[in-house]
Amino acid sequence: MRIDIVTLFPGIFAGPLQESILGRARTKGLVEIGVINLRDSAEGRHRVTDDYPFGGGGGMVLKPEPLFACVEALRRPGSRVILLDPQGRRFSQDVARELAQVEHLILLCGRYEGVDERVREHLADDEISIGDYVLTGGELPALVVTDAVVRLLPGALGDEEAPGKDSFGAGLLEGPHYTRPEEFRGWRVPEALLSGDHARIARWRRAQALWRTWRRRPDLLETADLSPEEQKLIEEFKHGKKPEA
Ligand code: SAM
Repeated sequence: MRIDIVTLFPGIFAGPLQESILGRARTKGLVEIGVINLRDSAEGRHRVTDDYPFGGGGGMVLKPEPLFACVEALRRPGSRVILLDPQGRRFSQDVARELAQVEHLILLCGRYEGVDERVREHLADDEISIGDYVLTGGELPALVVTDAVVRLLPGALGDEEAPGKDSFGAGLLEGPHYTRPEEFRGWRVPEALLSGDHARIARWRRAQALWRTWRRRPDLLETADLSPEEQKLIEEFKHGKKPEA
């Protein structure tokens, strides 16, 4: 897979793309990531990338010419051009899974008041928002999307960290985790996790995931793939039963 990120501020990406799982995925050749300075696609001595909005009002708008020139130089069959935008469709684990199948992502980072509308209408294949709030630029959203997508690529995570076990991976929130010590300030690790009984541990984890999802995100249960026993457990939660602590 290849991801090209088009930005006016390439320096933002230096640290995050080198560290930890993203850095390792690049070293292992699972993903190539390019960070392209939009200014390099702007014409003229001053390489201007933004201009005043027609009709007046505050703020600047990213001009269409450098964005079209940049994308047209990068795009090939199999590319998907994504504009990061607070008005786009909401990013989620499902969208991350969908994007992880794409051969080549081109992520366009807006700035200031955003991009000229013709970029949205005639250049972007897709628009993605990382949530209902407004950031100063599309760089952090591009990193969020890149991180969520790359960790889904086969080989990016060790077996123990498989994404299917994460929250949203199997349609539920994940249950709690504990590590040493067994007792900390009088708070003990749940007995089931110390039992060494793998079937009991698996049952405990599943019950905790169901309980946590029911308490925090009951909306997820509407689409989760639950066995009849699990559905019965949810009904019992509704009647006051709690899972084994
Ligand atoms: N004036 C725009 C509006 O009201 O819809 C907001 C522009 S914002 C200050 C500048 C850029 O940051 C956007 O073009 C977009 O690339 C990025 N951005 C801000 N919030 C975002 C979000 N929640 N998700 C994705 N991108 C976002």
